[in-house]
Amino acid sequence: MTVQTSAADIAPKILQGDRRALARAITLVESGRADHRAQAAALLEALAPAGRQALRIGLSGTPGVGKSTFIESFGLMLTAQGLKVAVLAVDPSSARSGGSILGDKTRMERLSRDPLAFIRPSPSQAQLGGVARRTREAVSLCEAAGFDVVLIETVGVGQSETLVAEMTDLFILLMAPAGGDELQGVKRGIMEMADMILVNKADGDLKPAAMRTVSDYAGALRLLRKRPQDPEGFPKALPVSALAEDGLAKAWQDMTTLADWRRENGHFARRRAEQSRHWFETEVREGLLAQLTATPEARAKLQALGDAVAAGRSAPAAAAAEMLAILKG
Ligand code: GDP
Repeated sequence: MTVQTSAADIAPKILQGDRRALARAITLVESGRADHRAQAAALLEALAPAGRQALRIGLSGTPGVGKSTFIESFGLMLTAQGLKVAVLAVDPSSARSGGSILGDKTRMERLSRDPLAFIRPSPSQAQLGGVARRTREAVSLCEAAGFDVVLIETVGVGQSETLVAEMTDLFILLMAPAGGDELQGVKRGIMEMADMILVNKADGDLKPAAMRTVSDYAGALRLLRKRPQDPEGFPKALPVSALAEDGLAKAWQDMTTLADWRRENGHFARRRAEQSRHWFETEVREGLLAQLTATPEARAKLQALGDAVAAGRSAPAAAAAEMLAILKG
């Protein structure tokens, strides 16, 4: 990228909350080019001392549950309070197929026009691992730009929830009203990650079903082991209507209660520290692998050794040692 996006030039603009600079910086962290990676790393390092923190909220739910409607209503409620809100997306469909469930530009139209809001769709055609790195770096950029809340949206499929839960302070599951039997369909692991389950569409004809679903999930959450990092009553299930803008203030109040409690008890900082360490170790692992397979010869060797192991001609440990010898050479 050009001289204009050098860390020294762009960092002060981001710190001033310049949205174009922020958008350009996110484009930079999305790039896989080695020189861009180096610039992105320098930029993030330059911004780190500012130490700005947003509340990072992960939001997951299946397509059609009302995520974009919820984020728009919820986001507008927060900006009406003067809070700056950034919305990022982790879209596993774009990683797999190049098509995107969350990238639709017409989504969240009102929020996207709000001067206190910043919306960035998921980049297309990236690997899920690449999307994870890009998203956590984009979160850091949004924090440096002075956003108070960063919402990270994902579709409830595959491993994307785990990814998002690992980069957020609160993880919220958005659900639709359902019959009791559908409760079984929610994976236990996802329920365990959730700090709050919001049952959306609690309005009109759907309201009775939504209220039943809330009590079903509340019961299911009670059966999960209570977490020491949570105050009494959490994790909890609540009804909301994104369309009627109902229950959103209560949901926000509970989110801030939980976040404040965790801050006061050290859990918030501890969770962030663990997340940062995890990302660091992931970067080291990925960097080593990239170094190991930097040349066509090295990639051919990895393939050949893998074939030999698969065919039973080599033992895995010996083949791995032979491969790792490249790093010493
Ligand atoms: P997403 O795919 O999860 O982003 O879902 P959308 O926000 O696009 O919503 C899917 C459909 O559900 C749309 O037709 C919305 O109008 C509708 N919807 C969203 N929120 C509500 C709600 O609170 N109540 C009702 N009745 N419908 C809703």
